[in-house]
Amino acid sequence: MSESQVIQLAKKLIEIDSITPNDKGCQILITDLLTQAGFQIEHKRFGKVDNLFAWHGSNDGKSLMFLGHTDVVPTGDENSWKYPPFSASIDDGYLYGRGAADMKSSVAAFTLAMIEFVKKKPNHLGKIALMLTSDDEGIALDGVKKMMPYITPKHAFDYCLVGEPSSSEQLGDVARIGRRGSLHVNISIHGKQGHVAYPENASNPIFLAAQFIDYLSSFKWDEGNEDFPPTSFQISALKTSSNTSNIIPADLYIQANFRFSPESNETSLKYQLQQLLDKYNLNYTLKWNLSGRPFHSRNKMLKNALADSIFDICHRNVMFNTAGGTSDGRFVAPHGVEVVELGVVNKTIHQIDEKVLITDVEKLQNIYYQIITTLLNRNT
Ligand SMILES: [Zn+2]
Repeated sequence: MSESQVIQLAKKLIEIDSITPNDKGCQILITDLLTQAGFQIEHKRFGKVDNLFAWHGSNDGKSLMFLGHTDVVPTGDENSWKYPPFSASIDDGYLYGRGAADMKSSVAAFTLAMIEFVKKKPNHLGKIALMLTSDDEGIALDGVKKMMPYITPKHAFDYCLVGEPSSSEQLGDVARIGRRGSLHVNISIHGKQGHVAYPENASNPIFLAAQFIDYLSSFKWDEGNEDFPPTSFQISALKTSSNTSNIIPADLYIQANFRFSPESNETSLKYQLQQLLDKYNLNYTLKWNLSGRPFHSRNKMLKNALADSIFDICHRNVMFNTAGGTSDGRFVAPHGVEVVELGVVNKTIHQIDEKVLITDVEKLQNIYYQIITTLLNRNT
C-alpha cells in the first residue's frame, strides 16, 4: 500500500535529528511546501532558535493560527530503540521515531490541511497561519515567547490550535483548553552552623524547617475550578550548606515548584508562602522564577469546532481539560486568542520507541482541515 502524503511528510521530518534547539532544516521543508501553495513566509532566528511564520489571506475575517515545534527531546540510549530513532520506521501500522508523537506528525498534518484548504478555497475570508519554533522542549526563551510580540503588530489572531499530543488513549479523546502556570522557588532557611557535638551553640535549619515542610505537604493553596485541579506545590530537592557529618549546617536549601490554577497568581502564592514561613518563625530568603502563567480559554468557537470535527471523524466525544505541563500556548493566550490543543496520543512521548498510529495521523489531518473550514469558510 502506498503511503499517504501526510505520512511521507512526517517521515521526512522525523529523519531530521532536530534536537532542541536545532531545527536542522525541518522548517525549510515546510516553507517549500507552503510557498508553493501561495503562503507568505517570514523566518526569524533568535539566538540559536529558528522560527517560522507563514500566512495566507488577510485581516477581513476571522484568523486561525496553528502552533507547533520542530525540535525534539534527546533520544536516550539509541541501542535500546527497536528501530533507530531517526529512521522513521513503520511497523504494524505504527510510525516509530523521536518526534513521531511530539510533534512532527501534527506539524505534517496541519501543514497539509492548510495547503488543502487554500487550494480548494484560494479566496477564503480571513487568515490561516502557522507558527513553528525549534525551542519548545528547551528553555523556550527564543521561540514563541519572542515571536508573538514580533508578529502581533502585523497580524491579529482569533484562534490558535496547538498541535501538542493531547490525546490520552485514542485520537481525540482529550483536548486542552488551558494549562496550569509554573512558578519555581528556591527557599533558603538560615540557621547557625556549629559542631554536631555542641548543638547548644548552633541552630539546625533542618529541624527549624521540619514542621513547616510537613505543613506544606497538605496545605491547600486554592480549590481550583471546574476546569483546573487545585494548585499543587512540590519540593524537588533538599540540600544543606554542609556535607560533613560533624557539622550542623548553616543553611537548608529547598527547591520547589508550584503548578498553579488561575485561582491563584504569582502575587498570591508569594504572599501565602511568606505567611507560612513567618508563621513558623523562620529566617529565610526566597528566589522566585516564574516560568509560565496559567491560561484558560473561555471562548467557545474553536472549542466547539474542534469537538464537532472529532465527533464527525473519530465518532467520539472529546473531553476538555487543562492537564499536563506548560506549553507554548501560554505565550499566545495573553494576546486575547482562544487557544486549544489537540494532537495524537501522548503515551510514548519523550520515551524510547516513541510511536504514532498511522491512521491517527491521517485522521488528524482531516480533523484540522474540518476545523479550518468551519472557522474560515465563508467565501470561496
Ligand atoms: Zn511537544
